[in-house]
Amino acid sequence: MRDVRMQGFAKRTDVEDVERLLERLVQPLPPEPVPLLGCSGRVLSEDVVAAVDVPGFARSAMDGYAVRGEDTFGASAYNRLSFELCGEALPGRPFSGKLAPGQAIRIMTGAPVPDGADAVVMAEFCEERDERVFVSEAVGPQRNVGAVGEDIRRGDVVLRAGRRVRPQDAGLLASIGCAEVRCVRRPRVRLVITGDELLPAGSLPYGCRIVDSNSVMLRALVARDGGELLPFELLRDEPELIRAALECKDGDVILLSGGSSVGQEDHAPRLVAELGSLDVHGVSMRPSSPAGFGRIGERFVFLLPGNPVSCLCAYEFFAGPSIRALGGRSRKWPHARVRVPLARKIASAIGRTDYVRVVIEGGRAAPIATSGASILSSTVRASGAVIVPRELEGMPEGAEVDVLLYDDELAVGGVS
Ligand code: AMP
Ligand code: MG
Repeated sequence: MRDVRMQGFAKRTDVEDVERLLERLVQPLPPEPVPLLGCSGRVLSEDVVAAVDVPGFARSAMDGYAVRGEDTFGASAYNRLSFELCGEALPGRPFSGKLAPGQAIRIMTGAPVPDGADAVVMAEFCEERDERVFVSEAVGPQRNVGAVGEDIRRGDVVLRAGRRVRPQDAGLLASIGCAEVRCVRRPRVRLVITGDELLPAGSLPYGCRIVDSNSVMLRALVARDGGELLPFELLRDEPELIRAALECKDGDVILLSGGSSVGQEDHAPRLVAELGSLDVHGVSMRPSSPAGFGRIGERFVFLLPGNPVSCLCAYEFFAGPSIRALGGRSRKWPHARVRVPLARKIASAIGRTDYVRVVIEGGRAAPIATSGASILSSTVRASGAVIVPRELEGMPEGAEVDVLLYDDELAVGGVS
């Protein structure tokens, strides 16, 4: 491969072409069994069919007295009917006998309704005295009784393949007796952070040294997208170190931050090409134009520029959707959106995709002025981002734009 260092990019790939390539190459990982307690948030790889009815027995929906419904016909406050009290049923502790006409048992919510009974009268309409119950309300058969299978029927598909398990889904899986489910395996993601100038996160910057902020941000993004993080490496810009990190077979995805461009110390693109294939190097976008993508063995390698905003942007456009897709999730942007007019115009260029940080004020989106790729605080001040597609030269003031919100709450609470 031609050494492009210090020569600039000959040509850049369109964002859509990179997206199409990734859609073709990156497919969901194979399934694995996941224990019930770990399945919330995971993506099911197959339908789940209930093997049992829930409930599996007719159960009382009220605290009261179980009776034969027809025996209560005619009962009212002025005509209380008397029943023989012959026992009780509690949740998990059934009444073992069978009710005969004119008999009742005391029953609590969740307890099985005994044979011979088909209705429950609420305690409020009953009075118990001397082994008898006086009932002042008529109840038809099945009243206050939960039928077998009223929640879930045996044979029902309760959750479909592709479903991302919600907390209540996990609860439902427990209720039908599942101990484990098959889910798409989570992608294992390795962060390789390069730069001679970098100090580990948690250090105080000094002199010409800066703190590695990209790994901190990337870890949170990978977690958001369902990836499993492997121990990460902070490396000097030395080709042999970077080569060793790329050769290591751990993980499905490598996120390589820094050294992705055409500078003297930018070794990563050449090394990826040498060890596997460098499918993309240089993308027609702003920020993040020095982004790249390649494959080494089974591993997908995303070259993320070191500038923090570029790093965020390249992750969101290419790495994030791929990590989600590997884990069986949607490639779509995970952000909530709002549609608002632009407070000021956005300048762009035909042929280039822009990721513009905006702040929403007074119901309008204003592009942030100091917005270079190295200005991480621009993303902190911003409410979200607007994407200016390749075919537009820019967007005029007043144009309605979709803002990808950095906080979901902004969509719920409204933006002002
Ligand atoms: P590079 O992509 O290596 O050319 O780096 C571009 C700019 O991003 C330089 O100013 C680097 O100091 C900075 N940079 C590189 N890596 C990181 C990192 N992990 N965290 C914060 N800034 C970085
Ligand atoms: Mg560097």
